Amino acid sequence: MFKFKNLVLIACILIYSCHMSTTPNNQDKPMTNSDVHSFAKPAEAVVTHIHLNLNVDFENHILKGFAKINFKNITGTHQLILDTRDLKVSKITQGENETETKYQFGEEVKFLGKALSIEVETSTTQVTVYYETSPDAGALMWLTPEQTAGKQFPFMFSQSQAILARTWVPCQDGPGVKFTYSADITCPHSLMALMSAENDTLLHKDGVYHFNMPQPISSYLMAIAVGDVRFHSFGKNTGVYAEPVMMERCIYEFEDMQKMVDAAGDLYGEYAWGRYDMIVLPPSFPFGGMENPRLTFATPTIIAGDRSLVALVAHELAHSWSGNLVTNATWNDFWLNEGFTMYFENRIMEKLYGRDYADMLDELGFNELQETVKELGDTSIDTHLFLSLKDRDPDDGMNDIAYIKGQFFLKTVEHVVGRERMDVFINKYFTEHAFQSMTTERFITYFNENLINGDTASANKIQLEKWIYGPGIPENSFRVKSVLLEKAAAQAKEFIAGKPAKELVTKDWSTHEWLHFLRNLPEGMSREQIAELDKKFHFTMSGNCEILCDWFQHTITSNYLPSEAQLEIFLENVGRRKFIVPLYKALVKTPDGKAFAKKVYTMARPGYHSVAQQTIDEMVN
Ligand SMILES: [Zn+2]
Repeated sequence: MFKFKNLVLIACILIYSCHMSTTPNNQDKPMTNSDVHSFAKPAEAVVTHIHLNLNVDFENHILKGFAKINFKNITGTHQLILDTRDLKVSKITQGENETETKYQFGEEVKFLGKALSIEVETSTTQVTVYYETSPDAGALMWLTPEQTAGKQFPFMFSQSQAILARTWVPCQDGPGVKFTYSADITCPHSLMALMSAENDTLLHKDGVYHFNMPQPISSYLMAIAVGDVRFHSFGKNTGVYAEPVMMERCIYEFEDMQKMVDAAGDLYGEYAWGRYDMIVLPPSFPFGGMENPRLTFATPTIIAGDRSLVALVAHELAHSWSGNLVTNATWNDFWLNEGFTMYFENRIMEKLYGRDYADMLDELGFNELQETVKELGDTSIDTHLFLSLKDRDPDDGMNDIAYIKGQFFLKTVEHVVGRERMDVFINKYFTEHAFQSMTTERFITYFNENLINGDTASANKIQLEKWIYGPGIPENSFRVKSVLLEKAAAQAKEFIAGKPAKELVTKDWSTHEWLHFLRNLPEGMSREQIAELDKKFHFTMSGNCEILCDWFQHTITSNYLPSEAQLEIFLENVGRRKFIVPLYKALVKTPDGKAFAKKVYTMARPGYHSVAQQTIDEMVN
């Protein structure tokens, strides 16, 4: 998923073929890693395929139907254990003849929900769970027509990562278990249903859609969206789904999508998933993007009108390799998904836009990493790449350590061994572990055997264990100095030294330079200074959410009232956690700010997804 302040786009060549030559089935190698966020025991009986048959009920905000689950009984157990949370189960059967069987729920555990133990005969390979979701299912967001761009039809979408798939599908909800899936979904006739699977591009007048995901994926990559959307194709295997009123802007913004897919394949091997499409969701989507296979879910806040924020597409696309193909085995290994993806994203950006541009992204990222380490404390265990999330909601551990410290670990490695050797290693890593899960421990062994391979001089320079099991940013970290950002910082300095805003040199700045400029202005500027900047650069009325987020932090700390109405509109209309969290955080620092935050949050909360609500609830109350 894409949560941090980065950017960018894409372009290049193409090595497309509509299917991978092999779809390895790793069900023969059950994962034995213990996943502290799942009740399932895949080493005993592991799910291999799920077929969903669900009706989408907008009136009651529920999905209702059944899940037919195929599994492999490895140890001859009499129990199949699944993860569930808030699911209402009415009946479970076993075998193709559907003989009713007994089942039992375990005790409810915070975040994790309940284990569902199903009695099975040792010869059984299939169970069918009849169930419905709760109107409060953590993964699902039900929007009223007013909460959409078109204002005419309701909208529903899911966000399963990290452990919310179990709130809408009974499954083995840990990233170490991979299975294929299919689905029959029935929705209102005027709406289109889409999943992280093979999708049709046309509206079905009967409201019935069939889906197939032939490659094995982890449960957190199961996804569904239902709404009034249309499709536009960009090329042989890329396209975008969006609400009709958004379509024109989407077509302009994402025009380079096909080039990006081609460029990524050029770097790290053939794209394995057939199509790469994107759906632009309503603004309550809590993340920048979610790399649901074949169909990235994206926030409309990346539509800036100037293609300056589409780095997100490069990020989600990179997950087609790091994450979706080679997957972190548990959420403690999250850096294997996100660190590689950030590294890969930056390589795509460099390939398409050049080193200077990529350097800007790198330096902005590194600065954010330093901020995060400062906030968490440089001895904090939460700054280790390998996380310790036992007894915690994994969503809590997903700060930018996994992302940016992970990225800078890989950049440091590249710096030591050289790009050529690095690329050979990464290509081999993706190829040899395609459709498998990876633990940090196994990664270290693989790294030592395949990249280091006895080269102790390089190993000593890299200090891998220090990066993975140690706190903070290691001293040997690769550092970037962006020439372009340096110029932007110099302008901020001059303004603070007294140079009038109208004399600042800002011509042709990208979003990144503006962000760096804003971040180099001190906290608590005078209201006159804020007003002067706003008059010259019209930040308050900017349509660019990245810029607005940084700008509002200044207006909040300087108590600049002319921005308050726009801030309120922003918080009530945007649900992307990356933007709203720092703003609420800044607001609650003063009594007046806190009162304002509470007032706005009361209005805004129903429009936020549960993962955003969870974060802000703690902050505001
Ligand atoms: Zn990501």
